[in-house]
Amino acid sequence: MLIGSYSPTLVIISLCVAILASYTALDLTGRIATAKGCTVHLWTAGGAFAMGIGVWSMHFIGMLAFKLPIDLGYDLTITLLSLLTAILSCGFALWLVSQPRLPAWQLAFGALVMGAGISAMHYTGMAALRMQPGIDYDPTLVGTSLLIAVGASGAALWIAFRLRQRSPHVTLFRCGAAVIMGIAIVGMHYTSMAAARFPDGSFCGAAVSGLSGKGLDNLVLITTLAVLSIALLTSVLDARLEARTADLARSLTEANRELTQLALHDPLTGLPNRVLLADRIEQAMSKVQEQGGCFALMFIDLDGFKPVNDAFGHQMGDQLLREVAVRLREDLRCQDTLARIGGDEFVLLVRLAEPDDALSLAARQVGLIARSFRVAEHDLQISASVGIALYPGNGQTAQDLLMNADAAMYHAKGSGKNGYSFFDASMNSNARKQLQLLQDLRNALDQEQFSLYYQPKFDANNGQPVGAEALLRWEHPTRGMMLPDTFIDIAEKTGLIIPIGEWVLNEACRQMREWYVQGYTDWRIAVNLSALQFCHAGLVQSVAKALSTHRLPANSLTLEITETTAMSDADASMTVLQELSAMGVDLSIDDFGTGYSSLMYLKRLPANELKIDRGFVRDLEHDSDDAAIVSAIVALGQALGLRIVAEGVETGVQQDFLTKLGCDSLQGYLLGHPLPAERFMLDIHRAEQLAIA
Ligand code: C2E
Ligand code: MG
Ligand code: MG
Repeated sequence: MLIGSYSPTLVIISLCVAILASYTALDLTGRIATAKGCTVHLWTAGGAFAMGIGVWSMHFIGMLAFKLPIDLGYDLTITLLSLLTAILSCGFALWLVSQPRLPAWQLAFGALVMGAGISAMHYTGMAALRMQPGIDYDPTLVGTSLLIAVGASGAALWIAFRLRQRSPHVTLFRCGAAVIMGIAIVGMHYTSMAAARFPDGSFCGAAVSGLSGKGLDNLVLITTLAVLSIALLTSVLDARLEARTADLARSLTEANRELTQLALHDPLTGLPNRVLLADRIEQAMSKVQEQGGCFALMFIDLDGFKPVNDAFGHQMGDQLLREVAVRLREDLRCQDTLARIGGDEFVLLVRLAEPDDALSLAARQVGLIARSFRVAEHDLQISASVGIALYPGNGQTAQDLLMNADAAMYHAKGSGKNGYSFFDASMNSNARKQLQLLQDLRNALDQEQFSLYYQPKFDANNGQPVGAEALLRWEHPTRGMMLPDTFIDIAEKTGLIIPIGEWVLNEACRQMREWYVQGYTDWRIAVNLSALQFCHAGLVQSVAKALSTHRLPANSLTLEITETTAMSDADASMTVLQELSAMGVDLSIDDFGTGYSSLMYLKRLPANELKIDRGFVRDLEHDSDDAAIVSAIVALGQALGLRIVAEGVETGVQQDFLTKLGCDSLQGYLLGHPLPAERFMLDIHRAEQLAIA
């Protein structure tokens, strides 16, 4: 028997090639698993080629490592056949592990096929020696080598299948698995080599014509390394590209999500906005149509939010709105929708078991808002007016429902705020009436339906008239005399207040000029300015023009602005007020005590007069708090060097009290109602005659 020997260097190299081929195979299965379309086939074919060459070259280098005391060579055709067998069985293995699932029977079958393939490659490769006489194989060892081939293939397939997805540390796992798989392949090879016995006198039939000679091992090794490296490099680069594409796709998805969030939510509170709300209402409506039941739409509007916003600034206002949103959510279930659809307007959509449940929920929401809010060290008190529309019943479309809930909310506001109202059909006609009113208001100026009434102001100490406040009246063609409270709001909202206010200013100055000529040169005519007029750029100019047109000294005119207006945009107000004051116009802070004033600011304000709000005067006799407030306002005004006027004086007791406190002038029904100019003068003349008599 010929005794064979091994070159240890080539054995080690064959082991390294086996490990590298295994690693390449594992990496490629990962590629195939994530590839799409026809790239799957490309990767499988390329992978089969690279891996087949790897496995085969391990085997071939292992053969080259084997030495016999005779010359050896390898038949080219049979060798190529063994290479083809390796490539085919590797292709099969790659295809198998790239399937979505790998049940046990499939794994077992795959292991058999692949084991058989590798064994076939090996024994075909051995046959390429073309030994004469034939190689004598030890059946036990051959059996063992077959078992090892099938077992190693099974393990390799299973590992490749498990490690094909990208996961943390996958490279590390693949390295470990490649080492194990490499050892198994090498083990199979050398076991089957051990099974081969070469009888004495054997000679190698391929020694002369076949592949042989020095350098063959290097050639095979270098070619294999090149193929494996190219396959690995391509795979790694492609994986990078894929990862980057995945990252890109992820950030796109994220950006999309953010955009949707922005488009459908209110950025301040994070609540759904009007668009999303409309969609939810539609959904709720179809649900009710399919499954029955009912839902309520509640329009929640905050009372007293604007003064807070004006007095403390927008940041504080925003903070308050956020707190309101949190509080309104407190009581809700996750299937309810709370949306913010405007400045201080929220809408709540709730599914109800019974329509009556809306009542208790609305009451709870009103109660939640009525509790004071602590925002940036301030305790703020606001309330909410809630209008409720029910579905089915109060509207056919989402828009109808919203409009009706809105109308009901206005009703709640009209009936004293801090409460709720259910919608009923009469409210809708109210809304229609408002619209009609707006149209009428547009024509009122042209058709000369406005007039001014004058209410006298008297010196508190000597009872002498000191001037009058001009109060706007609208003689409506069908509704009769309308008071400002019924139309100033609409005029403000639509901007009509600007031309109307200009008319008032002009008319009041014209009237004052008449009185001035009649000798009442020390009187002042007071004109009310609304917030919008006050912010309007042309105000100072209009005032100057009215004064010059009617040849009036500037201090014959008092401009009344409410405390809230004066405090709203403190810096801007200050500029306008300073310009007016520089002109010599007298300035009065109306309805004082109803807003939030900053003392610091009040001190710097170039005002001449404070008008105590008639609300305090009304309750003076019964409410000791109000009495305390009035005396505090008087003291404050005196300290700041301002004239104090009390409005709404209706009783002698109020008159005495206010006079004793130190008010400078008084105004109210007790002393004179607002009247048209002629009747106003009749009263004045009558009083003058009484004084003379
Ligand atoms: P205001 O400036 O506080 O005017 C005083 C209001 O109190 C007037 O109501 C007057 O009729 C009423 N009043 C006077 N004495 C008494 C009294 O003893 N008891 C009671 N309960 N009320 C009294 P009016 O004329 O309805 O005006 C309401 C508000 O409309 C005014 O409040 C003012 O803010 C606004 N306004 C009136 N005319 C104009 C105007 O020409 N332009 C602007 N922008 N607003 C105006
Ligand atoms: Mg006034
Ligand atoms: Mg007032």
